Amino acid sequence: MKLFGTNGVRGLANKEMTADMALALGKSLGTYMHRHNEGRRVAVGRDTRVSGDMLKSAAIAGLLSTGLEVTDVGVLPTPALQYYVRSHADAGIMITASHNPREYNGLKIVAGDGTEFSRSGEAEVEDIYFSQQFRAADWDQTGSFSRDSTTLRTYMDAITSLVDVDVIRNAGLTVVVDPGCGASCEVSPLLLRELGCKVITLNAQPDGTFPGRAPEPTKDVLTDLMNTVKASGADLGVAHDGDADRVAFVDEKGEFLDEEDLLAMMAGHVLGHKKGKVVTPLSSSLRIKDVTESMGGELIWTAVGSIDVARKMIETGAVFGGEGNGGLIFPEFQYCRDGAMTAARMLEILAGGRKLSELKSGLPEYHNIKTKIRCSNLDDVLKKVASALKEQEQDVDNTDGLKVWYPDGWILIRPSGTEPIIRIYAESKSPDRAKELMEYGSGLVEKCNVDR
Ligand code: MG
Repeated sequence: MKLFGTNGVRGLANKEMTADMALALGKSLGTYMHRHNEGRRVAVGRDTRVSGDMLKSAAIAGLLSTGLEVTDVGVLPTPALQYYVRSHADAGIMITASHNPREYNGLKIVAGDGTEFSRSGEAEVEDIYFSQQFRAADWDQTGSFSRDSTTLRTYMDAITSLVDVDVIRNAGLTVVVDPGCGASCEVSPLLLRELGCKVITLNAQPDGTFPGRAPEPTKDVLTDLMNTVKASGADLGVAHDGDADRVAFVDEKGEFLDEEDLLAMMAGHVLGHKKGKVVTPLSSSLRIKDVTESMGGELIWTAVGSIDVARKMIETGAVFGGEGNGGLIFPEFQYCRDGAMTAARMLEILAGGRKLSELKSGLPEYHNIKTKIRCSNLDDVLKKVASALKEQEQDVDNTDGLKVWYPDGWILIRPSGTEPIIRIYAESKSPDRAKELMEYGSGLVEKCNVDR
């Protein structure tokens, strides 16, 4: 049985993700930390979800029972917790289901250096969880508990110390921000105001029922933001997911900025100040590669997942990295996706004087198609697809799933980490070619899925 998915433990609150589980996970992490002698201090935070206090209290009780020192840091974005952990704790727990629908909640573990917990660490915590071999502290050694309410202030100060505040302030930008009633309700509006923007807010009251919109900031749920930007004549619209490690933008015309365009644009901005390597998953568009190379940088492809991107960035000393879902990583700040930091960097870009829609139109154009096919035996189907590709003498990259490069595009065939589906991606400059590649890729998967 597996507890941890691609991004922590998640499930329907109080059904799949229960207080009992959070208690046992707290005990498991505490046992793990004693075993590895990795320090005694754990910071615990949460997003605004209704079940957050229930799960947080249970996780804290579990940690305390093993004898750890716990600090409750309240409601905050995941990257703010990560920033805090790096200098004040030896591990962290974030109670969040990120961008998942309202009914969900979950738990993510943060390592002592503020990065996401390693896959091997998760596997060991999972083993302790299932074996129930928990450490129980003696009666006079059960842990200590405190609260710290300075986290948001220090997080915001760290961001403003890294961006060009004077340039942003002088630009006098107007920004509409939609935290979606999630973890960034306090941070993002305040940060933008401190950066000298005129700030208009939408869904900025913390509310775990998410009355304004769904926690995932996709184009179809951001209609209010798009309309407000247009009606108010603002320069930019900013939206976050439930725990604010991701961000989505709307241009001054009220149009949603494609996340792949965002990724490419930000790579160009970073490389304009500092040359170096840029890291992105194999599923990203070639837009970031074109921009990176035109700016004299080097692009490195990695497996899909923010932890893979972050670890590869550390390994290669990259200057920037990110995923095509609005999760961007700025290593001069920290090795994790950061929504507020990305928003601050976007203001820097706009302070240069050009409108976001103009900047967007200057980017390389590609056509991307995605689809998914339900398969009951992922490994089996993938093996068959791999040997079919080999028979056809295709050049396959096995970093994550099967990626086939062509002179004019690519396809990626990749099993999901959490569901019984295979995802297929295709990209080319020509829409017809992208369609053709997609038909070829999905045709192969369909055939191997039937042939069992
Ligand atoms: Mg998130």
